[in-house]
Amino acid sequence: MSEPSATTRLLRLPHVARRARRIAVLAPPWIPVPPPAYGGIEAAVALLCDELVARGHDVTLFAAPGSHSSAEVRPLLEDAHPDTIGSALHESDHVAAALDEIERAARDGRAFDVVHDHSGFTALAMASRAGAPVVHTLHGPFTAQTARFYARHGHKACLVAISRSQAELAPAGVRVSAVVPNPIVVEDWPLCTDKHDYLLWMGRMDPVKGADRAIAAARHCGCRLVLAGPVQPGQREFFASRIEPHLGGDQIGYVGEVGGERRIELFARAKALLMPIRWPEPFGMVMVEALACGTPVLAFPEGAAREIVIDGENGFHVADERHMAQAVTRLAQIDPERCRESVAQRYAPGLVAQGYESAYERAIDAAEPRDVRREHARRTLRPAASVIHERAGRALALTSER
Ligand code: UDP
Repeated sequence: MSEPSATTRLLRLPHVARRARRIAVLAPPWIPVPPPAYGGIEAAVALLCDELVARGHDVTLFAAPGSHSSAEVRPLLEDAHPDTIGSALHESDHVAAALDEIERAARDGRAFDVVHDHSGFTALAMASRAGAPVVHTLHGPFTAQTARFYARHGHKACLVAISRSQAELAPAGVRVSAVVPNPIVVEDWPLCTDKHDYLLWMGRMDPVKGADRAIAAARHCGCRLVLAGPVQPGQREFFASRIEPHLGGDQIGYVGEVGGERRIELFARAKALLMPIRWPEPFGMVMVEALACGTPVLAFPEGAAREIVIDGENGFHVADERHMAQAVTRLAQIDPERCRESVAQRYAPGLVAQGYESAYERAIDAAEPRDVRREHARRTLRPAASVIHERAGRALALTSER
């Protein structure tokens, strides 16, 4: 599938930011942006950065080595760390290096207007020392453990939730200032009406994601099930005891972690995606990816599944494995085109970028006294449109030179 050229993106002139800002986007250190396979946060960050650049912002992406983007990419560590996700050593090393660069940029007269953090916990805890206002996207659920952390440090940044249900679970005293969902470009996914005879489960092998419950549902209805996803550190015991014993026959297949065309094909050809989740799912990229391909989603109505899946329209909410199996017999009621439509507008990158632009402006407003702000705006900010026109002109010049 071909990517839109830089020129095409730059010429999307109607989508222009009110103000061009200098934005430092801080991705996690584990997986490159965009991800070669597994990586929901990295997929969202990739699309957001491209959209922000297309809207005229000056974006620097601090991310794992191997990342690429229309933003300026600054890898900070020597390697990506997909096998040690959550390691304090790598997270603090990555975040500290980013903060050093942000500080250096300010000293050199190239200060960032705002830092947009997607990287876990360290950057939020240190946000009041970042030297620029911080917008922090909440990528995980609020739990008993994280609630205390957010109660202590949440005020240091402008917190953005990725679903309404996630925002509703914010602990007392923690202010979520906006809900901005993750983006998807539906044109990057094929609409497929010619479905093959299998159900799909795709995700990490964490018990909350329910690969074992997907197997139970498939057994109830006698359907073939394809399981795809990485077995991450800490998930080996679950995989060995709850998944492996079911493999080997014709009905349940495990294809490991998938990326590229194989992943797209799996989503597109499936009769349905199963989401037998038992946790307050903060977003769930797999649902919007399946829907973009015209594949309905059968989901336990937990967290964002209640928002993304519209019962009876692009899938069904089901209470348990037995109901999930019964819903398979009703899949003919769901129109693949309606599935795709249900995500095309709601999660369009332009809308997502607009949501973040408002969050950036709020964070900047909150950080600066009003008179300083006015003076700064007068002296340094150019309307984004002029930046876009300049860049579009440059891109066109390059094109016509070839
Ligand atoms: N994914 C992938 N290959 C796999 C399993 C998952 O590319 O084998 C991708 C999937 O398409 C999605 C992301 O990894 O883009 C998982 O994101 P999601 O929000 O669904 O789950 P979480 O971030 O909670 O693990």
